[in-house]
Amino acid sequence: MHSSMIGKIAKAKQYAQEPERIRFTQFEATFRGENDTHQITFEEGAWHCTCHFFSDWGACCHTMAGERIFGMMIPAHQRQGEPLPVNYVALR
Ligand SMILES: [Zn+2]
Repeated sequence: MHSSMIGKIAKAKQYAQEPERIRFTQFEATFRGENDTHQITFEEGAWHCTCHFFSDWGACCHTMAGERIFGMMIPAHQRQGEPLPVNYVALR
């Protein structure tokens, strides 16, 4: 294997241990809930879910679970009030 590619693989392994380097700006996913499958989206700092609860409350277990899964990759000011993990490192 080419030495420069070996270096990139090593760097990728390091980066994979530092998820705070990644900040999502948008994404879309399906979420398989207990009763139905919903579509969750995150775009321009706003969450959306196709479930009925979200349309009434502006947050739901699917979007809050998404925040927990993606953790610090969602900017703090765009979170829906979920507590941050104890080891959270604020990045600007
Ligand atoms: Zn939902």
